[in-house]
Amino acid sequence: MPDQPSISSRVSRLRALLRHSGVAAFLILDLKNIRYLTGFSGSDGALLVGAGKPVLLVDGRYTTQAGKQAPGTRVVLYRDKATGIADALSEGGVEHVGFEPAVLTVELHSALRRKAKKVRWKPLPAELSAIRAVKDDKEIESIRRAIRIAAGALRSTLERIRPGVCERDIAIELEYTMRRMGADAPSFDTIIASGPNSALPHARPGSRKLRPGDFVVIDYGAVWRGYHSDETCTFAVGRAGSRHEKIYGIVKEAHDRALEAVRPGVSCREVDRAARGVIEKAGYGPRFSHGTGHGVGLDVHEAPRLSALSDAVLERGMVITIEPGIYLPGFGGVRIEDTVLVEKGGARVLTEFSKELQVIG
Ligand code: ZN
Ligand code: ZN
Repeated sequence: MPDQPSISSRVSRLRALLRHSGVAAFLILDLKNIRYLTGFSGSDGALLVGAGKPVLLVDGRYTTQAGKQAPGTRVVLYRDKATGIADALSEGGVEHVGFEPAVLTVELHSALRRKAKKVRWKPLPAELSAIRAVKDDKEIESIRRAIRIAAGALRSTLERIRPGVCERDIAIELEYTMRRMGADAPSFDTIIASGPNSALPHARPGSRKLRPGDFVVIDYGAVWRGYHSDETCTFAVGRAGSRHEKIYGIVKEAHDRALEAVRPGVSCREVDRAARGVIEKAGYGPRFSHGTGHGVGLDVHEAPRLSALSDAVLERGMVITIEPGIYLPGFGGVRIEDTVLVEKGGARVLTEFSKELQVIG
């Protein structure tokens, strides 16, 4: 659980942004945002941050937990969420309220418009994600812990990754080991993609058995106290031919150039360009079909996005991934992903596995 001083500094930063946006309060429904601003980790609720003490609205399952985890808030019980929110708004006398447009459903929005007729609503899409993008020391420590658990689990699973073993069994083993080692959960459904399947950036592990000459892409992570890790290792199974070496070498070069580009003040677009430039120059531009990276924290994918379209600029304390890839249908794919901390002098790689081409099995 985050400590109270860091919680109250997050709330004050948000209040400053609210003043800037011209709203009196912010209705927060995203559960990760609620956790970030209060410490409450339940699976439902709403948070109202205005001038006074933040109001945490929960249903009957969560009053005790909310009181314990979120001492900085006033916990209010609701039977019906829209009514609870509308009552809290009229009690606070707020008339101009910000909301997260990606989270507030049309259904709840129309109920709120019926029940809180005076309120004017303003979408605030990026305010909180910008605050969350910059991590404090405690958050960085939690991400490191998640990384350590995940890497420990992969290390102990690695010897079982060999020809004849199916993708799904590797995924189950890896996820089980992460949980055994203290993870809250896997960061996402583990990707184990072998041979031609590795040419699909988001393949689901299936019954395919590993064969010598495959690439196997392992994209995995653990959650520790709400914080995620994210890393992709691509191994060659049994042997690596010259085509493997060539493709891997290009992706590795793209990864290294992007890492070198990371530092405070550099735009995310430039980092993406650094990686994409290498892959384009080698003639595989269209085979790199996703962005170069993303922020990691309470969500496995969060701000900033590192893509050709991103307007974000890197700041000290951001934790981001660098993950270029090349995907060749019928043959296979390579993705190399590290999670890094943006520091004054550049990128500090937090993930632990070597990214040199390794032959396993
Ligand atoms: Zn990943
Ligand atoms: Zn990622």
